[in-house]
Amino acid sequence: MPVMSSLARFPRELDSLERDLLLWVLPKERSGYAEYRTFVEAWPVVAAGRRGEGNYILAEPGWVVDIDSPLPQLLAYGVVEHALGALTISLRERFGRQLEFELEGGSDCIDLAALRQIRRWSFSEWLPSQPCPSCRSRIREVTMATTAGQALVLVLCSKDHRIWVQDGQTGVNALIPVTGFYNELMLQTGIHDPKIALDPKSLFELPGAYSDSDLISAFASYNQLRNKVALAGDLILAGQHKVNWIQGIVGTLTGKKKQPGHKKEF
Ligand SMILES: [Zn+2]
Repeated sequence: MPVMSSLARFPRELDSLERDLLLWVLPKERSGYAEYRTFVEAWPVVAAGRRGEGNYILAEPGWVVDIDSPLPQLLAYGVVEHALGALTISLRERFGRQLEFELEGGSDCIDLAALRQIRRWSFSEWLPSQPCPSCRSRIREVTMATTAGQALVLVLCSKDHRIWVQDGQTGVNALIPVTGFYNELMLQTGIHDPKIALDPKSLFELPGAYSDSDLISAFASYNQLRNKVALAGDLILAGQHKVNWIQGIVGTLTGKKKQPGHKKEF
């Protein structure tokens, strides 16, 4: 049985499972998610999204829904693993007065409560010094601070190829698209060699190749473009790049056989 019948008429209220799952990826105790929780609790489902079953758009009554603009970036992501598979919950950044979400792998998920849940995790729940919520591996944490005293942590999981930034003030874990971040890293480190510059995977395959200050500079630059995290003051940058060293290492790996397939990007 699909999440919702394709014959569903709009507007409709979120069903209780949809509401519970969306609120779950927006933890109540993290102040930065509060505004999104109010949208989930107040706005009706007004349209289907472009990605098929399970993809819907919430909107403020009276708002004219736009499904032609580029898909907003991911705000929150979680997975419920159960006896019959996994259900993923994706919630995207607000676009005007509309909010798009997707419940994937949802066949039978309507009866999820009755299924044997193995575990559930979301990136929103992560706290500093914890392992990756997805794969439970150790992750790289880079502590950042602004001139106004705001504390942040930049996190990289090499196993999942994921990057996020925690804002200590709001508790939000902002998911950072790898390609955009990597482009800024290449610019900030002055790496032009296409074998490296066009291969974001090398960020994860060479853990430690980039210094903390390289990563902070890349995030500062990325955030100026995308405004992912509201910063009080400027990020404090320090240290030096390791460009020549990285290029040397990657150069020795260029003959290495590449693994097929690609990771899903945020
Ligand atoms: Zn991971």
